[in-house]
Amino acid sequence: MPVVANIFAVSCTVEFQGSDFESQIPPSPLPRYNPAMASILVIGPHPDDQELGMGGSIARLAGQGHRVHLVDMTNGEPTPLGTPERRAKEAAAAAKILGVERTLLGLPNREVVHTLDARHRLAAVIRRHRPNWMFVPYPIDAHPDHVATTRIAEDARFDAKLTRSAIPGEPWHPKRIIYYYCTHLMMNFQPVFFLDVSGQMETKIAAVRAYESQFIENKSPVVEMVRTMNAFYGGRIGTPYAEPFFTYEALGFGGLDQLV
Ligand SMILES: [Zn+2]
Repeated sequence: MPVVANIFAVSCTVEFQGSDFESQIPPSPLPRYNPAMASILVIGPHPDDQELGMGGSIARLAGQGHRVHLVDMTNGEPTPLGTPERRAKEAAAAAKILGVERTLLGLPNREVVHTLDARHRLAAVIRRHRPNWMFVPYPIDAHPDHVATTRIAEDARFDAKLTRSAIPGEPWHPKRIIYYYCTHLMMNFQPVFFLDVSGQMETKIAAVRAYESQFIENKSPVVEMVRTMNAFYGGRIGTPYAEPFFTYEALGFGGLDQLV
């Protein structure tokens, strides 16, 4: 008899005899995951990358009650109009606007490289915040700091779960890595999904504008470009604004009620 027929027969037997078959199924070894209270780390090479790429999503997720924390790999300086002190104030102001806090990992700007030390430093932050999801830059990028940040984050996720290591904290393994798109990429890409940020767009713009030394004093076109890009992505899903994301790993949904 074919396997499929066998399975059907078992199912019918259970249904018709009122068996307590379900109670005999061992419980799932996986802990129940509560998507209403996720811990989320958003890792950026430089302060402003997270805001530009997914500031609306950060505000939305934080507003929904998730624990969202930003990690800056470097302080982002030097830049033409910035100083470390000024950039730190701007980064703090942007985080406040989004309703989150941030940690500076302290790697040297423009010199981020994929080393064991960098991996372990970030793994310690992962252990402290115990994120369910990690957001990191899309792996293809023209800026070496961005490419290195993504590789460091991917490996730090693995390192963080190791027992008998010198990494401070208890082992932890983030369930998912999701990639956001940094805005200076001059390439077309195919996102896996979009998040509707129509209700958070002005908050995102305000957070981006907090980086006065990067976008306001030099009259940068980036702020309007971000609005235009997010409007374009919104058009892909029929909402005023959206932010795009990519993942290599399969996404599981608890329902379809949130699809737009
Ligand atoms: Zn950057």
